[in-house]
Amino acid sequence: MRYPIIIHPDDKLRQPCEPVEVVTDELVQLLEDMYETMLAHDGIGIAAPQIGKNIQVAVVEIEEGDRFELINPVIVKSAGSDIDVEGCLSIPHVYGTVERPDEVTVRYFDREGEEMEVQAYGYLARAFQHEIDHLNGKLFIDSMLEQIPEDELETYMEEHDHD
Ligand SMILES: [Zn+2]
Repeated sequence: MRYPIIIHPDDKLRQPCEPVEVVTDELVQLLEDMYETMLAHDGIGIAAPQIGKNIQVAVVEIEEGDRFELINPVIVKSAGSDIDVEGCLSIPHVYGTVERPDEVTVRYFDREGEEMEVQAYGYLARAFQHEIDHLNGKLFIDSMLEQIPEDELETYMEEHDHD
């Protein structure tokens, strides 16, 4: 099922989320529902608070077929720095640049309850950080350097295409 997206400003987007203690069938269903909701909105990532759930769960898929389901994710290592443009399903029509490490290692649990670790670079690293920020009540606009008008997005992307 699709959930409505919580739109900024909303207190639900500003609270640190609770860790998941055990992976239940309900949680697995929630992961599916989050994915469906994300795709329905053409998103590349979604975090549980964006559908009103105060738990440390996020889904990321920047390349079709390469879905990451992150339960209790933490960044254990980060390196480098890059500035690139971000948007957010909870902040429609706002896009802007954020400076972030361009390489991260994320430790998380998958839907089987297995502890996993993934090393990510470039936009995937950025997407992980954006979603993990959500789980800490942070939004990209908090650290936005420069807002990019929606009608200039495409031009910006072309000029800054470095992956
Ligand atoms: Zn977001």
